Amino acid sequence: MMRSSRVQPEENADGTMTAEIHDANSPHADIEEPDQNGLEESLHEIFGLSHLRPGQREVIESVLNGRDTLAVMPTGSGKSLCYQLPALNLPGTAIVVSPLISLMKDQAEKLEEIGVDAAQVNSTLNAEQESEALENIRSADSDVVFVTPERISDPDFITDLQAIPTNLFVIDEAHCISQWGHDFRPAYLGLGDAIKALGNPTVLALTATATPEVIEDIAQQLGRPSMHVVNMGIYRSNLNYSVIQVTNPEEKLEKLQELIQKNEGNRIIYTATVKAVEELATALAGTNTGFALYHGRLSRKARAESQESFMEGKSKVMVATNAFGMGIDKPDIRFVVHFQMPGTLEAYYQESGRGGRDGKTAECTLLFDAQDKRIQQFFLARHHPDQEDLHEVYKAIQDLSADRPVSKFERLKEKISKFSARRLQVMLRLLEEEGILRRDKSLGYRLRKKDVKAEDLSRLAEDAHRKAEHEREALERMVFYAQSGFCRWKVLLEYFNEEVEWNHCGHCDNCINPPENALSAHPVQRQDKTGQMAFGTDKSPPEKELTVGDEVEVEKVGKGKVVSIRYDMVTVLFPDSQTRTFMKNYVRLLQQASENKGE
Ligand code: ADP
Ligand code: MG
Repeated sequence: MMRSSRVQPEENADGTMTAEIHDANSPHADIEEPDQNGLEESLHEIFGLSHLRPGQREVIESVLNGRDTLAVMPTGSGKSLCYQLPALNLPGTAIVVSPLISLMKDQAEKLEEIGVDAAQVNSTLNAEQESEALENIRSADSDVVFVTPERISDPDFITDLQAIPTNLFVIDEAHCISQWGHDFRPAYLGLGDAIKALGNPTVLALTATATPEVIEDIAQQLGRPSMHVVNMGIYRSNLNYSVIQVTNPEEKLEKLQELIQKNEGNRIIYTATVKAVEELATALAGTNTGFALYHGRLSRKARAESQESFMEGKSKVMVATNAFGMGIDKPDIRFVVHFQMPGTLEAYYQESGRGGRDGKTAECTLLFDAQDKRIQQFFLARHHPDQEDLHEVYKAIQDLSADRPVSKFERLKEKISKFSARRLQVMLRLLEEEGILRRDKSLGYRLRKKDVKAEDLSRLAEDAHRKAEHEREALERMVFYAQSGFCRWKVLLEYFNEEVEWNHCGHCDNCINPPENALSAHPVQRQDKTGQMAFGTDKSPPEKELTVGDEVEVEKVGKGKVVSIRYDMVTVLFPDSQTRTFMKNYVRLLQQASENKGE
């Protein structure tokens, strides 16, 4: 299903778009199509823009031709315009599902400013504002209606929407629908039903990141198996990636302080935990850096103030968990440092990709301590239900239904308080998908199968287990990125299954200062038979195959033990507990693990 595009690391003429796409399948690869839909006119007159960027035209025309479309386009490439133009050029109303109220507010206000009628429906509206919004919607005055995924799952609201002609159903940040994605939001799972209830309008899903699995999952969850996928790739030449290896918390903090001082402009420091945000706040308090804090445990008010302070440039540094940032439209973030790595490269790319939306250079730096893996392992360990968890939820619904057939979520939550709301929702959805539960109109849950067997639940738990495996692998890839000697962009692109025609981006730490340079004056690039990018010399490979556990020596670095091997790369653990990855050619075998054991 995925279409492959070739991406070249070049700036566009206007310097704004960072990847030039040559999609052989695209009817617009070489020629400019004549303007058949009055697009150019709206583009100039309403949006004040001179031309569409690569990819936008293909997405927009696909949508105008009534095709369900999934657009994977980098952050800052202009995904909003892909629904705004069609919304204005089609009769009726476009529904836009947006995950964050702040994002929605921002977009609705921007549209209003340029004279487009936009309504928004979310939990922050007071009764009067809401009835005004609904009145606008009913009288079909709005070109665009923004809604939260929670709201669009509400049957009463769907009834309101059914009264107006919906021409387009847009899902922003569509990766949230996928269980394989890092931002999974259970409420997104209701979108397939909403689309059906609205009479199957054309669907447009937008995201900056999607692995092939996520792409497939989006299409499946939306009930649109044959979506037209426009994949612009993820490459952005203005993002400079680098990793700084550290071995203990003190060293990490020191490096962070240096980085904060060295870099200027707007900076985000991401941590994996709330605790780390708080610790950093204490550590930075004594310095002359003005910073704001953001994490999920702050009050709504405190978060709003922090965000505003950063958005308005009063605080140049934001210290935050990943609760901060989705859809934040701040163009001039110059530096995104990860004080702790996230659990997947997808999350890492999303978060670091908040830098440089204006197309100018931004630094994306990861501070990596091998110990940090444990934090993510901790998250993984508690994330997936086992058979007993599922049984507990099933049993609770069974017990509750003795009184009343339908149990509200809040009641269930009360009865089984040991699970977080999010986790309970995931389990309820699993049971619902399996046909064991039904979610009723009043948003309560009712049992559909009364005699569920242990093996049904165990199969469900197995599925969840597979997902956990998937996440463990994703974490390994994240760690691999941190330790790799390869071009960082190549590692990212490979994760997203993207092929590019080059081997070096030329502006990540490994390209600018290859680890092999310390070893050889003239490394030769070559493409090995697996198609992987490889550094190496023309030296012949070692006679014996390396295996994990072998004792090896790396010239000018020292002796160590092989901890993993992937393609042509060997990761070696050194006595100072540092791990580094090298091309096989640079690693000399001293003693094989098997010999070691045998003697
Ligand atoms: P995304 O959602 O892909 O991250 P946005 O839709 O928020 O990106 O757009 C990013 C910026 O690019 C916005 O400021 C928008 O006005 C601008 N933009 C979008 N399309 C164009 C275009 N064709 N020409 C110039 N600027 C554009
Ligand atoms: Mg966007």
